[in-house]
Amino acid sequence: MTAHKTLDPTNDPALRSWIDGANDAHADFPIQNIPFGVFRRAGTKEIARCCTAVGGTVIDLSALHESGLFEGSLIAGQNVFALPTLNEFMAMGRPAWRSARERIIELFLEGSSKVRDHAALRERALVPLARAEMLLPAEIGDYTDFYASVHHATNVGSMFRPDNPLLPNYKHVPIGYHGRASSVVVSGSPVRRPLGQTKADDAAAPSFGPSRLLDHELEVGFFVGPGNRLGEPIDIDAAPDHIFGVCLVNDWSARDIQKWEYQPLGPFLAKNFATTVSPWIVTLDALRPYRLPGPYRAEGDPAPLAYLTPTLKDEAWAIDLTLEVLIASVKMREKGLAPARVSIGSFRDMFWTITQMLTHHASNGCNLRPGDLMASGTVSGTTKESRGCMLERTWRGSEPIALPTGESRKFLEDGDEVIIRGWCENGTARRIGLGECRGVVTPAPTSSR
Ligand code: CA
Repeated sequence: MTAHKTLDPTNDPALRSWIDGANDAHADFPIQNIPFGVFRRAGTKEIARCCTAVGGTVIDLSALHESGLFEGSLIAGQNVFALPTLNEFMAMGRPAWRSARERIIELFLEGSSKVRDHAALRERALVPLARAEMLLPAEIGDYTDFYASVHHATNVGSMFRPDNPLLPNYKHVPIGYHGRASSVVVSGSPVRRPLGQTKADDAAAPSFGPSRLLDHELEVGFFVGPGNRLGEPIDIDAAPDHIFGVCLVNDWSARDIQKWEYQPLGPFLAKNFATTVSPWIVTLDALRPYRLPGPYRAEGDPAPLAYLTPTLKDEAWAIDLTLEVLIASVKMREKGLAPARVSIGSFRDMFWTITQMLTHHASNGCNLRPGDLMASGTVSGTTKESRGCMLERTWRGSEPIALPTGESRKFLEDGDEVIIRGWCENGTARRIGLGECRGVVTPAPTSSR
């Protein structure tokens, strides 16, 4: 590998792979990416195992390990990739993740023959993406959702509390709540419209039934690596060593249930009926060329307290990551129309970084464990197009979005598919994609007493 002036050699944009599709300019998974996931061959009952993707090919890492191809790396020994989740690998820490990623890149670089010229291994370890069933990448013990976009917080606050949109703590504390890990599902899983208790402004009493104001929330998630012992905080400079990688998240939200239940204790049944994650986790090492020195701050915003201020310049982790949300209605899919984009924004507009979120979470001694999931909160920017949920995008339904079939949407309807995509691109480094996070809304259960 040729050395790059400021970057790790694994980020060198000149690297090419012998795998089909990996060198396309628009590929999500070039040789510089090496995302991690869990899969089995579609339509089989095979035991799930860990994998990566290069171009349009899923690579069975367990099969590579069994063939001795990780010998001499930090993950030689026990085959952690034979397990049906990435938790054990996540627990091994950043040196092991780096060592594995470097070895995988070596094996699939142009000119590397160990896998390319081994027909039986190629047959066993390489599976076209379309023939892989992607599964939840980790056993998620705990899930926490933050609220890290000041633009989202201000927009939502001004709808629910016009006199007092942004509470005084917002610019000092990374706000979050504990979500529900049991209902986190992988991309492609249907999402059932929830039943719940709501109360219309003009109704005398609350009622129970299907949510009428179902929404998506465009978010970026990250998985915890080694984590910390109870009572032992994580220093902000060490935070990147505890973040295994990032994914896309849709935090499905029932706005009518939320409005009636959220005070005084915050989100509950309006949120915990389903959260969708993308199947691929992209490491911080792959994202290194897209690191930005600091998160979004406006003139006059307070500096973060010392425990949230990195001293290592190289470990500031605001990320130049473009994100979009698309919707495809049943009619659109029947007519073969492409999904319609309803928002496009950037993760660089967030008020708090993922390392600040992680460090704040552990700052009281709360123990984080390998495979824990954290999400950023809705990613919204300063423009209308960059608002990451329907509540903001349609301003509570007052500005409906037109779909190419002539249909319009204030919130989501049954049959709608929501697709989130994310990618990094800057014209210098190789494009790094996060893939997709999809889900179709299915009707609410009929029994609603
Ligand atoms: Ca959320």
